[in-house]
Amino acid sequence: MVQLHDQTLRDAHQSVLATRLRTEDMVPICSKMDEVGFHSLEVWGGATFDACIRYLNEDPWERLRTLREHLPNTPLQMLERAMNIVAYRNFPDEMVKKFIYYAHKNGCDNFRIFDALNDLRNMKVPIETAKKVGGHVQGSLCYTISPIHTVERYVEDFKKLEKMGCDSLCIKDMAGMISPTRAYDIIKGCKDASIKIPIDLHSHNTSGMTGLSYMRACQAGVDIIDSSISSLTGATGQPPTESLVAALKDTEYDTGYDMELLMEIREYFNEVWKKYSHLHREQAMRIDPSVTMHQIPGGMLSNLVSQLEKQGAVDSYEDVLKEVPRVRKDFGYPPLVTPSSQVVGVQAVMNVKFGRYKRITNDTKQYFRGMYGKPPGEIKEKMYEKILGPDWRDQVIEDRPASLIEPQYQRRKEELQDMGLLRKPEDVLTYAIYPDIGLKFLKGEVKAEFTSDQLPLKPKSEITQVAPRAVDYPVKLKIDVDGIGHSVLMKDQDSVKVDGKTYQISVLYPGGNQPAAKSKKSSKNKTGVNSPMLGTILRINVSPGEKVAEGEAIAILEAMKMENDITSPRDGVVATINVKEGQDVEEGDVIAILE
Ligand code: MN
Repeated sequence: MVQLHDQTLRDAHQSVLATRLRTEDMVPICSKMDEVGFHSLEVWGGATFDACIRYLNEDPWERLRTLREHLPNTPLQMLERAMNIVAYRNFPDEMVKKFIYYAHKNGCDNFRIFDALNDLRNMKVPIETAKKVGGHVQGSLCYTISPIHTVERYVEDFKKLEKMGCDSLCIKDMAGMISPTRAYDIIKGCKDASIKIPIDLHSHNTSGMTGLSYMRACQAGVDIIDSSISSLTGATGQPPTESLVAALKDTEYDTGYDMELLMEIREYFNEVWKKYSHLHREQAMRIDPSVTMHQIPGGMLSNLVSQLEKQGAVDSYEDVLKEVPRVRKDFGYPPLVTPSSQVVGVQAVMNVKFGRYKRITNDTKQYFRGMYGKPPGEIKEKMYEKILGPDWRDQVIEDRPASLIEPQYQRRKEELQDMGLLRKPEDVLTYAIYPDIGLKFLKGEVKAEFTSDQLPLKPKSEITQVAPRAVDYPVKLKIDVDGIGHSVLMKDQDSVKVDGKTYQISVLYPGGNQPAAKSKKSSKNKTGVNSPMLGTILRINVSPGEKVAEGEAIAILEAMKMENDITSPRDGVVATINVKEGQDVEEGDVIAILE
């Protein structure tokens, strides 16, 4: 018998609906899902935590408790990113321990723990902690294709994970590219190596061959396979639960699940799919065998598309897909999964947009320093030098990254207390893991993109076809004066004030469809430092009057969930800072002015 681990409430919508499924659309079907007898349901962790606070204005802890209450009989699983927890960078041991403790306390039974680089040193603390709190630990290895990721390497690492105390193992094929032969060889290899604990195969439909791979996995003795209800699968989603149950019926792998019950669940999610139509993406629905070449996981692919759309750079999609494997090779073949997928993906976007390694993100630098863990393969010295500079040897660490990170739980707790925002212990974790968006969320400043009762939203094309209407004042304008951009509020129809001077303005296009003027270098020796893309200003590193050198980071911009330096285009003195920390900026906005 083979059992299914259903992903509908976590990875399915992360893969095909940009992680936007709201809790109120999960609850009505929980009792039916609880009846099926799934081995387990993955409902939490991965990108869902971030999406809850960033886009949905939902408390992720509340979601976990609610699902636990409505799913009393099925083990619930979270996807835990080792020392990254549910974020994109390493945290100290104490934070990982606290998070796992509270995840278990709020209803999580099973912990699927993985490290993006398969660096087992990063998995030790979460594995030990999840065992200690009484959880089931599933030790996972990210599946990837590269000259260094051999069957033998996987079997050896799985043996080590069994020794580390895991209760089961998982091949995490997040990009959906495992071939039938590789699936068979790794699972058979584990069984032949006398690994006793159950093995789970997690994959996606992306390559088009996953059904075959699952069949071969069954033949090799796989114990659990991952799936999602067909309504929320598509190409970047998981193989459909109902189809697998039907395919395995009357074989030695028969799941024994009730097909009629599954059909009722399918009908429910068919309606959910229609409701979320504004998030449908054609790319996410098409089988794409080129994934075996570019190896971009489903979640990353759908996020990459929506990020490129926001950046107004969707035209460069194909170029970015081609750049990703080149970056990956330069980086020592990391598997592409959060957060390494983000580091590689954003660097690939930068390389396409500005030229190869002309702009290097902070996260790329941190990766090369070893702050994500040990890169799986060798990296050329000239790459280290290109990313970190001539003194790169002094910057690269040998230790496990988390051992270098200061404890922060107590400090974060006190900060929240001082702000009067500490309502429950879990809030400290929300804030500590996502200091910017988490704080905004806890302050109640996050606006939900939509709630269930507003769905389906009107498609964008219908909205833009609305006839031009009169401008509602006040209007926020961006004005370039002598090449320096100013953001001003226009309170009436004819004038605005910039630096004490009044400018007459005539609104010629009431629909507001005029393209924004690009800022130019000024003739008066003043230079505006522009934001290279849409994002949020995380930190400002300089003050007015300060000298800066060409290439120095003036501010840190968070874009595509990664930190990017906004660097000075020349030597100079900071005249003004035009933005505040936490402010959202668009591409071309003037961050600072140099003299
Ligand atoms: Mn996945």
